[in-house]
Amino acid sequence: MPDSADIIIVNGRVRTMDPDRPRVEAVAAAGGRIVALGDNASIHDLAGPTTRVIDAGGASVLPGFIEGHMHLFSGAAELAHLQLHGVHGFEALETAARIYAALNPDRPLVLGQSADYTILGVGRSVTRHDLDRILPDRPFALAAADHHTMWANTKALEAAGILHGKAVGPGNEVVMGSDGRAAGELREGEAFGPVLALAREERCRLGLSTGGEPDPMPTPAERDGDRAIMRRGLDWCARHGITSIHNMDGNLYQLELLSEIEAAGDLACRVKIPFHFKNFMDLSDLEKASRMAGSYRSEWLSSGMVKMFYDGVLDSWTAVMLEDYADRPGWRGEPLFSPERFAEIATEIDRRGLQIAVHAIGDGAVRAVLDGYEAAAKANGRRDSRHRIEHIELTTQADIARFAPLGVIASMQPAHPPGGGGFPMEPTVSRIGRARWADAYPVRTLQQAGASIVFASDWPVAPIDPLLGMRCAVERTPWAEALPSQNLTLDQAIAAYTSGGAYAEFAEHRKGRLRPGYLADIVVLDADIDSVETERLNEVSPRFTICGGRITFAA
Ligand SMILES: [Zn+2]
Repeated sequence: MPDSADIIIVNGRVRTMDPDRPRVEAVAAAGGRIVALGDNASIHDLAGPTTRVIDAGGASVLPGFIEGHMHLFSGAAELAHLQLHGVHGFEALETAARIYAALNPDRPLVLGQSADYTILGVGRSVTRHDLDRILPDRPFALAAADHHTMWANTKALEAAGILHGKAVGPGNEVVMGSDGRAAGELREGEAFGPVLALAREERCRLGLSTGGEPDPMPTPAERDGDRAIMRRGLDWCARHGITSIHNMDGNLYQLELLSEIEAAGDLACRVKIPFHFKNFMDLSDLEKASRMAGSYRSEWLSSGMVKMFYDGVLDSWTAVMLEDYADRPGWRGEPLFSPERFAEIATEIDRRGLQIAVHAIGDGAVRAVLDGYEAAAKANGRRDSRHRIEHIELTTQADIARFAPLGVIASMQPAHPPGGGGFPMEPTVSRIGRARWADAYPVRTLQQAGASIVFASDWPVAPIDPLLGMRCAVERTPWAEALPSQNLTLDQAIAAYTSGGAYAEFAEHRKGRLRPGYLADIVVLDADIDSVETERLNEVSPRFTICGGRITFAA
């Protein structure tokens, strides 16, 4: 141990998340690692003349939060867009959009983020004419919080060249009106891509839209601008107590930008970025995933994972179901890969020793992904692969039982179930249908069945705040009587944001807990979360975020 610590935190209610020593008063860090835990007196002894001493004042001290599924680049870009979280009704939308448009006269697209599917009322979809009434003269579009649907005005549809429709691949749709023109609603990326392109922020979404690299490569000035966007996103994470993120849309460009920030000495968060495999790619494209994994394997920047989408979302009927949608007989959604093709791809990724994370929302998608993982294990032999399924909004009891034996991680977002974290009940609960509500967002059932759980926001789909996520997890209430309860304890919710995230990145021996030798990734809150009423958990905020022993946020 060094002569003195770089930083000590005393008078804390320290939850270490270490079962061997769950609660202490104080922590010391030096050289970017935790060097000691204990009572105030023994940790005070480690303070020297240059030691930074933080008095937690009786508030909670936790391992830095690990945000297990988010979109850093696009989320950071969206912080500058019109924010529609909580906006309902035509007048409220009109007011918000007109104020924003007036304040941002040079934006090529007025883009509203986090619009509810029911922003203009239940059972009423948004049309281009609705949006024309608000802003007829500028391209104007709304994006659903889930980022799977957009609604555009006539000007935007015209400028994007899709007013008369567009041929798109399975799972995507330019919804057409009875007049033979686009109605305004655009389902999934191929349909709304041309409208989104009007915002001229394509580089922020490349990792999601194509998984490819910028072409042409950005000019030095554009690159500076992109690094500034990334920094804004990293600061947003640090402000929320987050020290590690799993950025779920991937390309090499983002890793390069982040390594430039790291070289400048102020990377505020550890970042994992996958290679994104899209359905137009060949197996040989996975060579790049192996290259990314080989080039980025530090504690700060890593890859080693392949992200895929198997389906879309419930609200636009693009999630893949085992049975017909309750509110759309004869329709079960179209997968982005056939089950056979998915198994083939999963087997190749697994053979390369890489981790797989697949977006699967409907029960049909969850089953196909589990089948693919099973096929991979059969072909390549069982290993500690920790493949993941993202979201799992609907599944079946039979498939829940397969997670633990297959070693598959359930990556879930506690703020996503409708009726909880700000998402309305409709249309989601009607899509699922009452008969299947019992198997929707089944986090506790999965945990009781032995599955490893990792929590996240999927920011910018939901607010990034882990304390909001914890509140949603703890307060989750069933949609109807007699449904199984799916809430977790506070301790389980914290674990899913700390040790669960560490496990998901094969880092449980280095992070996710406060223990000597572990990375000094720590969050000091402004209250004791054990004595705060659960409905006020999201009012608790970080006072300090410490990543690698460096203070990355101070309130
Ligand atoms: Zn996502």
